[in-house]
Amino acid sequence: MGTQSHIAGYPRMGPKRELKFALESFWDGKSSAEDLQKVSADLRSSIWKQMSDAGTKYIPSNTFTYYDHVLDTTAMLGAVPPRYGWNGGEIGFDVFFSMARGNASVPAMEMTKWFDTNYHFIVPELGPEVNFSYSSHKAINEYKEAKALGVDTVPVLVGPVSYLLLSKPAKGVEKTFSLLSLLDKILPVYKEVISELKAAGASWIQLDEPTLVMDLDSHKLKAFTEAYSELESTLSGLNVLVETYFADIPAEAFKTLTSLKGVTAYGLDLVRGTKTLDLVKAEFPKGKYLFAGVVDGRNIWANDLSSSLSTLESLESIVGKDKLVVSTSCSLLHTAVDLVNETKLDDEIKSWLAFAAQKVVEVNALAKALAGKKDELQQFFSANAAAQASRKSSPRVNNEAVQKAAAGLKGSEHRRATNVSARLDAQQKKLNLPILPTTTIGSFPQTVELRRVRREYKAKKISEEEYIKAIKEEIKKVVELQEELDIDVLVHGEPERNDMVEYFGEQLSGFAFTVNGWVQSYGSRCVKPPIIYGDVSRPKPMTVYWSSAAQSMTSRPMKGMLTGPVTILNWSFVRNDQPRFETCYQIALAIKDEVEDLEKAGINVIQIDEAALREGLPLRKSEQAFYLEWAVHSFRITNIGVQDTTQIHTHMCYSNFNDIIHSIIDMDADVITIENSRSDEKLLSVFREGVKYGAGIGPGVYDIHSPRIPSTEEIADRINKMLAVLEKNILWVNPDCGLKTRKYPEVKPALQAMVAAAKALRTQL
Ligand code: GLN
Ligand code: ZN
Repeated sequence: MGTQSHIAGYPRMGPKRELKFALESFWDGKSSAEDLQKVSADLRSSIWKQMSDAGTKYIPSNTFTYYDHVLDTTAMLGAVPPRYGWNGGEIGFDVFFSMARGNASVPAMEMTKWFDTNYHFIVPELGPEVNFSYSSHKAINEYKEAKALGVDTVPVLVGPVSYLLLSKPAKGVEKTFSLLSLLDKILPVYKEVISELKAAGASWIQLDEPTLVMDLDSHKLKAFTEAYSELESTLSGLNVLVETYFADIPAEAFKTLTSLKGVTAYGLDLVRGTKTLDLVKAEFPKGKYLFAGVVDGRNIWANDLSSSLSTLESLESIVGKDKLVVSTSCSLLHTAVDLVNETKLDDEIKSWLAFAAQKVVEVNALAKALAGKKDELQQFFSANAAAQASRKSSPRVNNEAVQKAAAGLKGSEHRRATNVSARLDAQQKKLNLPILPTTTIGSFPQTVELRRVRREYKAKKISEEEYIKAIKEEIKKVVELQEELDIDVLVHGEPERNDMVEYFGEQLSGFAFTVNGWVQSYGSRCVKPPIIYGDVSRPKPMTVYWSSAAQSMTSRPMKGMLTGPVTILNWSFVRNDQPRFETCYQIALAIKDEVEDLEKAGINVIQIDEAALREGLPLRKSEQAFYLEWAVHSFRITNIGVQDTTQIHTHMCYSNFNDIIHSIIDMDADVITIENSRSDEKLLSVFREGVKYGAGIGPGVYDIHSPRIPSTEEIADRINKMLAVLEKNILWVNPDCGLKTRKYPEVKPALQAMVAAAKALRTQL
């Protein structure tokens, strides 16, 4: 019997972000559609070849996308919202990228986090009028493309039920419309797609139904049963893998999954799903395949092969040798691409790691071992065992003083002594701000020139003096611009930062850095998460120099700008050898030192971004309260030591705060700025419903993810909507998020409009 190995999905960006550069150059009009298609085809073919060379039996196709795989599904179904002016026919780049990014006249569709990852998908907007029709042949095209290259792949589709569960009702029908009522309408399109794949020779198909790991009620679970019964005849003759991932699958959902008609294989995440194994052991349907996700798709640690192997061996007797397939816990989309390109990591740390390319090798090594060919891989397995042992005992990982300090935090409260309204009064005396104060979220556009300066400094091509001079000049420019725009609370623009997490990680101990460890965040945007491998501490101040320099350039308040512990944690590759909260407390203590040093240096307003607090929320309800408790506690620890007159801001990205609003209040920040404008002011509804918010709050007044420039009227309109539900003396006026991805010709008029709107409204209050 051959090796039984499967990869659930693979990063699209390429080992050196080739797709990013191709996309951006196409969007800028610097290259043609053909250029973009060529780069993309090359990436796909090299991925297929690599997986096939590694011996992978089940190789995915259609996991590539020009923007987002959920948007691909929207295109496949022809579910284009009418405002994009699509008139039918195969959906091309124009309509596709308009939905993704907006265009000159229409804003982009809403984007939101993909489960608890840092990947964002474009949320389908569906109403009763949508006329679904097969409108993007991408899946079949990719299948054929691979086949022409000699690789028979498993086409991957977002499953029909998850697609609907991830959608939102279109405008106007929010309250009344049941998305699942559309099942009958989308299944015919799925049937067409599947039939076509079958006719083209596909023998397997993978349907991703990750929503099965959520807490679904029986009505939703029933939708799965109905959908697959309806698809059964179309699926017959195919092997059908339903892939789940990101958490334990609840017992009820497991029962539903394993009873689905037409389905022959189940993909389960055995890394996050620690209890899932028990479900499988208790009962697994005869004759079905188990795709056992033992290699972590969410992290960069080398697999503990001997432990995985014993898990797999324990499954063999339940599932049957010929029905057990070694797999990844989820798509490898959420990990870095290839360790081979890491020239700056030392060999010891490298030996602890595996990126996507290495995980493909691990999956195949495990599959070969299961097939009785472990002897051929003796060296591979013993090197892996040695690396596992060295990581456990390394002094680079363990710092006793830090462990002690963090352990002391558990269980205690940590809260500023004075309540928020008294603090705000004390701060206002010092800051003397107008009503509806204006501010921005931190970063200003990062020009090509700026990136060059940072790159050359890093590569030691320019001296420290030259670097400092250039960055200071940039700060000066940004400060002058903000004064000219008459913004009230200034920022220094973050020109010295590549990334809001990497910047801090680089200066903290216990972090390692990659050169090319990029992970897609949304569209062409990637992040390069630091790797937290050891106990965290702060050897010296990290931002005080730049913040003081910036403050010295203006008499207006300058915000110190930090990234909070929860965000650093959630946007890093985190240790898997201790609980997440322990790592978080360690980071909180390091940021606390920084906050206090900023205060000492005369910075009166300090923003501690917790952009990613919401996205770390565990998927399963039973685990959420505990997470929120330690996450919010970690945030409070950072500013427990400041005076009442020091104003602590925080900032959060994306919507869906409503369910955690009480935790947000419990963060006890003085001011919070929240991304808001792309989710139809969903945020405001929580205040409309009576939740009291006594601290300052700035729901973003325009979307910075789109190049579109808002008008003064439009912004004033938004502020008025906010004033209808929030007290005028707590409202701040700011964009949705940092401006770093925008260009100055967009940023200047947008901020001008923002300040004009705030000023106009002030006279009316
Ligand atoms: N201060 C950061 C910036 O403006 C915040 C970014 C974020 O929330 N993602 O870039
Ligand atoms: Zn943000």
